[in-house]
Amino acid sequence: MSRKGGTRIAATKRPIVVLAGEASNDRRCLRILLEAYCPDMRGRLVEINGTLRLCDATGIELERRVERLRRLVNARAARDSAEVACVFIHEDLDRTDGADYHPIRERVEKALGKAFDSAHHVLAVWETEAWLLLFPDALAALVAGWKLPQKYWGKDTGRLTDPKRILVEEISKSGRKYRESDAPDVLEKAISLGKLGSPLGSNRSWKQLRDDVGRCCAEHISG
Ligand SMILES: [Zn+2]
Repeated sequence: MSRKGGTRIAATKRPIVVLAGEASNDRRCLRILLEAYCPDMRGRLVEINGTLRLCDATGIELERRVERLRRLVNARAARDSAEVACVFIHEDLDRTDGADYHPIRERVEKALGKAFDSAHHVLAVWETEAWLLLFPDALAALVAGWKLPQKYWGKDTGRLTDPKRILVEEISKSGRKYRESDAPDVLEKAISLGKLGSPLGSNRSWKQLRDDVGRCCAEHISG
């Protein structure tokens, strides 16, 4: 944009990356992981709430919800006078990993592809807490007394029923009880211990997120 007789106003803002998700703790977790895996994300992540669940919707209803998301993202970008580089949408599947995981993601990403230049559907199985079970050292280092029972070591944590219950009833039996606001701190602890790259066990949604961040970092936010 230029003004007659004035100097050209350069676009100083880097394009933003928008984080959407139902819960603030989940968005905090996502922010921590994006910044850890892709330092270029720092300073350009913004959050929005008020989004509707996409993984439960199909057809016209899914399109309607994505359109609402698109409007929220655009409004947020307009507020910052910034362009949108990419969008991450976090959702908990609220059930274990299974045959429907891939079709759901494919359906949602296809709908997102029509509304955004680039976007990623972060579909956690069963929920974000399942990722925390991959880092027993971080759990133990965060709160004295917390201990992941050996039966969960090296497991596919996406196949465990109700990981939040496992954290509350089995891991924090000693020490204070786990609460949802601990989730970001567990991940921060895993990072400070140098454990983020070596999870104990597996989880398809964890790996998917890592792959998506890598692609995003290389293709969507470069420059
Ligand atoms: Zn991206």
